[in-house]
Amino acid sequence: MTNERLRLVPDNSESGLRELIAIREIVHAFLTADRPEEVFQFALDRVSPLVGASFACVYLVDGASELMRLAAVHNWPERFAPFLGEMRVRLGFGPSGEAAAERRVIEVPDVMADPSLEDWAEVAHELGFRAIAALPLQTGDGVLGAVAFYFEAAGAITAETRSLLRMVADQMAATAQKARLIEDLRRANAALTESNAELERQFVALLEARRVKDEFLANISHELRTPLTAVMGYLALMDEGLAGPVTAEQRRTLAQVKTSSQHLLDLIGDLLELTTLKRGGLEITAASFDVRDPLHDALATTRGRSDSVALRVREPEQPLFMVSDRRKICKMLVALLSNAYKFTTSGEIRLSVSVIDDHVVYRVEDTGIGIPEEMHQQVFDEFRQVDGSTTRKYGGSGLGLSLARRLARVLGGEIYVDSAPGHGSTFRVELPLVYREPERLSHSPLPFALG
Ligand code: ADP
Repeated sequence: MTNERLRLVPDNSESGLRELIAIREIVHAFLTADRPEEVFQFALDRVSPLVGASFACVYLVDGASELMRLAAVHNWPERFAPFLGEMRVRLGFGPSGEAAAERRVIEVPDVMADPSLEDWAEVAHELGFRAIAALPLQTGDGVLGAVAFYFEAAGAITAETRSLLRMVADQMAATAQKARLIEDLRRANAALTESNAELERQFVALLEARRVKDEFLANISHELRTPLTAVMGYLALMDEGLAGPVTAEQRRTLAQVKTSSQHLLDLIGDLLELTTLKRGGLEITAASFDVRDPLHDALATTRGRSDSVALRVREPEQPLFMVSDRRKICKMLVALLSNAYKFTTSGEIRLSVSVIDDHVVYRVEDTGIGIPEEMHQQVFDEFRQVDGSTTRKYGGSGLGLSLARRLARVLGGEIYVDSAPGHGSTFRVELPLVYREPERLSHSPLPFALG
């Protein structure tokens, strides 16, 4: 070992000035680099001449392994460059391995004079270095690896140089960590952008699928309605005896066929209305009428209440007028009332209408089977039923609520549900007292409304 002192920079250099320059170089590296590896490379290239090292390396711990791989080199002798990619340093072994494992500066003033580094003598000779200073690259989270500076001349490191090297290593580690965080953010951002694009693709595909489905439903409904109307016409002719005498038995059968056909026709009508509503093509016929009228219309047309279910109606004693579409409100109430009838086998059904400020509120309450909380919104989706199985107890198409909600919305209102299994359900329809035509958008960004 020799006592010759390492000369890192010219003697007349102020230590504070060197530190400043080193920091500036590292900051510069951070600002210029895109990836952590580039930060190391830039920093090594700038700092090595500053500390007088003939070449330098940065080793990084490889994942959770005990090995470090080379992340950046400065001025490595050209003829050894081909082996660099292969180079691995085991934590705890050699000056760099020890620096990283023990998290302290390891100084070797003269490799040739150190018996523990006997194996290194040949390499040191070949590469042309005598002294090494290896420092851990550590952050608050742990050790990233080590940086090693190799000096041509043997010599111990002065306290001032040591503190400069420490500062350099700490700055490099902190900068690299920040660069890594930025890199992580960038990756997360790229992944987000990608999944956004994917979501957008799926959204467009979904819109297209919906459009095709609605078009199909609209077309098929039209196609079904025409022959069905003809069937019902022939039924009426037979019923009236115009196609020959009809026995009492045949008349009963005809009545059943007529009921089923009417049911089918209603269903097709609902489908057509729903698809027309979704395309925004349904006409609103606004007129002034008593808020009690739609309620009476609905009561008159809805069938199916069980004898063991009481019906209570609460309404204002005096006429109160609203301006809206009476037929559409009646249709909504029929959907709600027939559901109440269908899903209530005992107890009572309360139907009410009231005017609160500038709103008309219709309520249909029942003591039936109720709807679980998680289905409260889904029951408004078309074809959606709480029990969607083929063995379900209650019939129905799953269109009633979907149609009712859309009707409420085109009239400027909304339908709300409050329900719990075993405790019955309350459906509340809120509508403006005076319907106002919505202002038309010049062009809608979507081909039809979502929902
Ligand atoms: P449908 O009654 O033809 O099945 P709807 O769209 O009217 O279709 O209703 C959707 C589903 O919501 C019903 O199948 C039923 O599961 C649930 N539901 C609606 N109203 C009630 C109610 N009053 N009580 C219990 N469940 C109801």
